[in-house]
Amino acid sequence: MSDYDAIIIGGGPAGSSSAALLAEMGHRVLLLEKTTFPRYHVGESLMPFCWFMLNRLGVTGKMDEIGFQQKKSVQFATTDGRISAPFYFFQHFDHPAATTWQVERADFDLMLLDNARAKGAEVRENTTALEFLKDGERVTGVRARSGDEDAFEVTATVTLDCTGRDALFQRKHGWRKRDPMLNKISIWTFFKGAKRDPGLDEGATTIAYLPEGGWFWNIPLRDDIVSSGIVAERDYLYRDTRDPAEIFAREIHNNAWIHDHLSAGEQFGQYWVTGEYSYRAEHCATDGLVLVGDAFAFLDPVFSSGVFLALKSGEMAADAVHAALEKGDTSASAFASYGEQLCSHIEVMRKLVYAFYDPEFSFGKLIRMHPDLRGKLTDCLIGNVEGQDYSDLAAAMAEIAELPAELDYGHVPAGV
Ligand SMILES: Cc1cc2nc3c(=O)[nH]c(=O)nc-3n(C[C@H](O)[C@H](O)[C@H](O)COP(=O)(O)OP(=O)(O)OC[C@H]3O[C@@H](n4cnc5c(N)ncnc54)[C@H](O)[C@@H]3O)c2cc1C
Repeated sequence: MSDYDAIIIGGGPAGSSSAALLAEMGHRVLLLEKTTFPRYHVGESLMPFCWFMLNRLGVTGKMDEIGFQQKKSVQFATTDGRISAPFYFFQHFDHPAATTWQVERADFDLMLLDNARAKGAEVRENTTALEFLKDGERVTGVRARSGDEDAFEVTATVTLDCTGRDALFQRKHGWRKRDPMLNKISIWTFFKGAKRDPGLDEGATTIAYLPEGGWFWNIPLRDDIVSSGIVAERDYLYRDTRDPAEIFAREIHNNAWIHDHLSAGEQFGQYWVTGEYSYRAEHCATDGLVLVGDAFAFLDPVFSSGVFLALKSGEMAADAVHAALEKGDTSASAFASYGEQLCSHIEVMRKLVYAFYDPEFSFGKLIRMHPDLRGKLTDCLIGNVEGQDYSDLAAAMAEIAELPAELDYGHVPAGV
């Protein structure tokens, strides 16, 4: 008899959503989180279809109560400052999900972790999972440590690795495979008092282009704060300095819209840098273990898919684990369909990301060539990936851009 039905490592959106759902379904759940919440995390802009998972978790009311900045649209700015007509989600679908949010992740992740606790998951913060316990190839639990105390062992029928980009199992087993074309660098920071667009556009995410395929994100948050970041190729960013503040100051002059908006405000806090952009694990599961959220795969954040995929995979993993526990079979094969579906959702977004970086491609060009696909493109961009066939959209994009073949890994190990 294991100590728990499920151990969840990591209390980000993937971990706290799967913990809340499994606890709600009556399972004995332990969640280990290495930090103490609230803690800073990058990734503030949500996709509209996050609403459906947040609604199942029962927190949409809480989101409004906290008062996160509402996001009703996305817009694109050319290097000379021309802005596309904002793409309003409510023009595409009439549903509460058409208004989404820009969230300070410290508050958002705390809300989700508290929700997991309230649903009955036992949450231990300041507790780091150090390694996996195994019986042969089967994962049977973890060895962990709380603060400076002695390490302890805890067992579970199934373990969910939700450790984000730390990706504990991937790292320990050499399972990480990078997406060669999407290996960018990002530098980001915050501004107070920057220019905000008026009315409906106040909370819009703006993607502002830089030369050589780079781009800025501009994400307006509460309290007159803007999250601002650059994503670009290493050679482009580091061409004359490696100092993030100098690079940032230089690149602001390479997009007139960004210059106009940020120069009204004042930068504060540190500059953050991350590399090793997009990757996927060799497999999504092994006997007694499932990989969820960024601990499984990470995709370039240009379309704000990260939190959506973390919540979605958290929900899918919880349902798969629940079925496996009920059946009494938590071998890797119980997670085959989880892996198939998750990879297919990621592939839809991955094609869009490749198209975005292709110098020949623009959404305007695609829609002019295929006006009938506007709705499908929008569905893709808002996260409506479940049960959809996007092959016609992919074929149309492939007329303009070089799209990647689907990755043949990320599934359960062959032969299980
Ligand atoms: C530059 C950049 C910009 C981004 N912008 C966006 C955006 O605008 N919108 C968006 O949706 N996404 C964005 N993302 C992606 C988003 O941040 C992630 O996809 C999302 O946070 C994944 O959630 P998660 O729960 O899988 O992992 P995380 O949110 O990273 O949570 C993992 C948790 O596990 C804990 N942990 C790690 N190791 C251990 C351990 N050994 N033991 C115990 N706990 C552990 C960590 O402390 C952490 O709390 C961006 C990412 C980057 C890099």
